[in-house]
Amino acid sequence: MSPVIPLRAELSGGCSQAPVLKERGQREVFCGLTGIIWLHRKVQDAFFLVVGSRTCAHLIQSAAGVMIFAEPRFATAIIDERDLAGLADCHDELDRVVNRLLERRPEIRTLFLVGSCPSEVIKLDLGRAAQRLDGIHRPTVRVLNYSGSGIETTFTQGEDACLAAWVPQMPASATHAPDSLLVVGSLPDVVEDQFARLFRDLGLANVRFFPPRHATELPEVGANTRFLLAQPFLAETARLLEARGATHLPRPSPSAWKAPPPGCRPPPRHSASPRRTSMR
Ligand code: SF4
Repeated sequence: MSPVIPLRAELSGGCSQAPVLKERGQREVFCGLTGIIWLHRKVQDAFFLVVGSRTCAHLIQSAAGVMIFAEPRFATAIIDERDLAGLADCHDELDRVVNRLLERRPEIRTLFLVGSCPSEVIKLDLGRAAQRLDGIHRPTVRVLNYSGSGIETTFTQGEDACLAAWVPQMPASATHAPDSLLVVGSLPDVVEDQFARLFRDLGLANVRFFPPRHATELPEVGANTRFLLAQPFLAETARLLEARGATHLPRPSPSAWKAPPPGCRPPPRHSASPRRTSMR
């Protein structure tokens, strides 16, 4: 049997003597493109077209891990040397890519153009491109855009930006519609089903989830909507829902704790590696 190789020197004082690592600011985090990994699984008739570089394509492909013979619901339109050198009109190229995509994938109902670092650096106006393409492909396909660039966003901010871009498309509920509860934030389908069952058992009949499983089933929002955030990082989405008249139901969240509640000990730190991923 091989001898056990100590990975790190034993600390004489035990774990209580371990050095405290303090990190502030945006360090060692992924960019907002990573939200596509769970969003593309959640919304079954949406497509995420990253307008970015080969780096963005590698990040998404390796993180999402979709098999090459599957038809994923995301792709990257690569900005190459011709675009960067100004030899090609990026908008023409984008139109061509989008047209080809929608011809091949007629089941797509909402297309997100996702900005990246390269598209920001060359000042590609994806908002205008999305408006133009939306005018061409509506009502069959809705084209929206948001930024997942590492310059602007980190990790979970991608989902917030995506949902925030979607809020204005939600239909307005009627003035005298019955009260409804909206659960905001991507949940695995099985968790969503369990939530729905629990809410039903509590007597709450009118419960909707955002994002929905199908882009064509956007829930209504209005003054009779109360919403709770299934994720603690959807600040912009919450702000826009409130602007549409919805009421936020606050709930305890670990990220909101300033200190552990009395009698609650913090979980042990597994510090085999000093690298940590932080969420904002
Ligand atoms: S958006 Fe920026 S940080 Fe994210 S993969 Fe692309 S180049 Fe890298």
